[in-house]
Amino acid sequence: MSALLELAGVHAGYGGVRALRGIDLTVEEGEFVVLLGPNGAGKSTTLRVLSGLVKPTGGAVRFGGRDITRVPGWRRAGLGIGHVPEGRRIFPDHTVLENLRLGAFPVRRREAKLLAEVLELFPRLAERRDQPAGTLSGGEAQMLAVGRALMGEPRLLVLDEPSLGLAPLKAAEVFRHVKRLHTERGLSVLLVEQLALVALRLAERAYVMERGAIALSGPAEDVAADPAVQAVYLGAG
Ligand code: ATP
Repeated sequence: MSALLELAGVHAGYGGVRALRGIDLTVEEGEFVVLLGPNGAGKSTTLRVLSGLVKPTGGAVRFGGRDITRVPGWRRAGLGIGHVPEGRRIFPDHTVLENLRLGAFPVRRREAKLLAEVLELFPRLAERRDQPAGTLSGGEAQMLAVGRALMGEPRLLVLDEPSLGLAPLKAAEVFRHVKRLHTERGLSVLLVEQLALVALRLAERAYVMERGAIALSGPAEDVAADPAVQAVYLGAG
């Protein structure tokens, strides 16, 4: 059986900057995978390749057994890739409900059912449904970004540093929700996160990137036990 997501030998860059130098990465159906690495390692670029914002200069991206390397970004949500971008990218002047509805564009017919599910999942969003999204707290705004991605009925939820700018307790709450989506609904997750220790506890498998390449990968507990990872990422060095 082929993986749900497969990046095979992906190269990408920005003008003269080579950001990715042959990335091999997979996410199996129902798996929770974390992508770690220092600033500038290429984590966000990897996610941008996945969402179609950056075109690879080499290699292939496959999703659900299909080659999507040349599928435009706007069609990928419809294929089942639910992206929660860095910085959340919600529309502050639109209400919480309007922001959620925007996420349902690939599955318009099921919008009402999906909206009910998301509001049940995030009662705080339900309470604030008619408020402008710009009035939400950081944690609530992150929940909204996750909720909006879920409105597209994704097969894979892709999160780019969801803890960014959140107090530790708020970040923990966001992670609890994501973990629940994985354990209770079997949603596949690809998470990029600076909080390595937290991320390695959540995930089943991990990749560590360095300078545009995969430096290390394996079961999350093995990666967490790796002396180099302990020294650099977990502050144990
Ligand atoms: P961070 O954790 O700091 O977000 P990252 O691992 O996500 O880092 P990327 O943002 O993917 O790293 O960056 C990889 C490389 O590509 C870096 O050298 C970065 O400077 C470069 N880069 C990223 N975005 C651009 C851009 N829009 N234009 C030019 N270079 C870029």
